[in-house]
Amino acid sequence: MDNQDTYSVFVRKSAVSDVKELSNFLAESLDMSFDFIYNRLTTTKSSEVTIKKQVPKSNIEKLIKGNYSGVYFSRDNSRTYPYNEFLTSVLGFTSTDGKGQSGLELYYDKYLSGVDGEILYETDIVGVEIGNSPSYIPAVNGLNLQLTIDFDVQMLCEKAMSDAMEIHQAKRAQMIVIDPSTGAIRGLCNKPSYNLNEIPRDNLDLLNSLSRNSLVSDVYEPGSTFKILTTAANIEEYLKGNKKAYSPNHIFSSSRYRYISGQKVKCWNNHQNGKHSNLDIQGGLNNSCNPIFVDMAMALGKDILYEYINAFNYGSVTGLDFSGESQGMILPKSSVLDVDLARIAFGQTIAVTGVQLAAATSAAINGGVYFTPRLVEKIYDKNGIVAKTFEPVKKRRVISEKASSIINQMLEGVVSDGSGKQAYIEGYRVAGKTGTAQKYQDGHIAAGKYVSSFVGYFPANAPKYLALVIIDEPVGQYYGSTVAAPFAKTVFEGIILTKGLKPLG
Ligand SMILES: [Zn+2]
Repeated sequence: MDNQDTYSVFVRKSAVSDVKELSNFLAESLDMSFDFIYNRLTTTKSSEVTIKKQVPKSNIEKLIKGNYSGVYFSRDNSRTYPYNEFLTSVLGFTSTDGKGQSGLELYYDKYLSGVDGEILYETDIVGVEIGNSPSYIPAVNGLNLQLTIDFDVQMLCEKAMSDAMEIHQAKRAQMIVIDPSTGAIRGLCNKPSYNLNEIPRDNLDLLNSLSRNSLVSDVYEPGSTFKILTTAANIEEYLKGNKKAYSPNHIFSSSRYRYISGQKVKCWNNHQNGKHSNLDIQGGLNNSCNPIFVDMAMALGKDILYEYINAFNYGSVTGLDFSGESQGMILPKSSVLDVDLARIAFGQTIAVTGVQLAAATSAAINGGVYFTPRLVEKIYDKNGIVAKTFEPVKKRRVISEKASSIINQMLEGVVSDGSGKQAYIEGYRVAGKTGTAQKYQDGHIAAGKYVSSFVGYFPANAPKYLALVIIDEPVGQYYGSTVAAPFAKTVFEGIILTKGLKPLG
């Protein structure tokens, strides 16, 4: 992103000798209507009248040649974005006078927008460094942000989600890539979005909806990706010696149904073809068999399951440096019925944000530590002097290293042998979990409307890139395994290529 020079044009009325003549001249030089300018100059009460903002330099040169008294201009800070539709929902947009209105522009406005009332400023174009990891937001008055966003990864996400919109004619397509070992967000993309050089300012509803960082501000029912949480709770409790928790070797009942307080809770699969028979936890994850997770949650009980839900930060904001983060929707523990708990176990009757799920999954597989996700690495001034550095924030330990390593192994199994196969990349140890959730409208299941998702990462032995892909209302196919997982694979392959990552022997 560059700060390309544009100017605002003013007229100080007391210095104007012939209003008509000046109006004519300005109309011609600025490609404006005579009437508009004449009206402003004759009816506006203030002594100084703004005629036009964001005037390019070529028009200003005409004004200089005309040399009319009472005409002034000052440089403003309109921004140009060399990559058009790129990182839109993260950067956000500014008002025409440079005030942050959404995204990082809003959250870090005090650093970015400088001192109020200053019209002139020192141009400071930093732009986005190509082929190197950090991206930059250029400053208005000297302070710059260095983002955690990796330019290459972001490019890959933008491309993948544009493709997803087209291929699946989806309502929305979203992707977040995070470094699970630090919480640094490497890519974040919400589609549809808009070209930052053509902000639809005249349609506020459209602008607000397209500017929304849905991965942070909106919730969705996660479905089976949430089984990672239930598994983590069970494994950790098992290692701690809780007799109610299941051993990884336990073989669960092959019935499609569980009866909870007289209500029938069933598996999405009809259990007819034998694939959901005699499964252990690994088999439950591979086939995404619901009753196995119901059994785990019911055995642990709501007090213990809620301890893990809270520890993994579901139901609270993650603390990401971004405005408007949603805390998700988790039923209060006091009002959770057994049948609710049974459904929570496989990701129903709850709603989470994408960034919550990405951060929580990172904690499950990175050795067991929850890192607060973040978007800014450093704030520095125009001379490159660092004003502030943001270190990784370890919020808390959520499970033991041992439990984390078992979950890691299981999720690698899901990609090598189970429903995550479409994200498999030979030699790179990809791991993950699929999710397919039905959508609700007015409290009822909305027929034919699904959210397909996949959360995956690599390399499983030391995870560096974790991606969550959410495809909202795909047309036709709707399983997370076939709709979402392939896009994680594409982005991972792109990362491997651009970073020159070698296969792991
Ligand atoms: Zn099943």
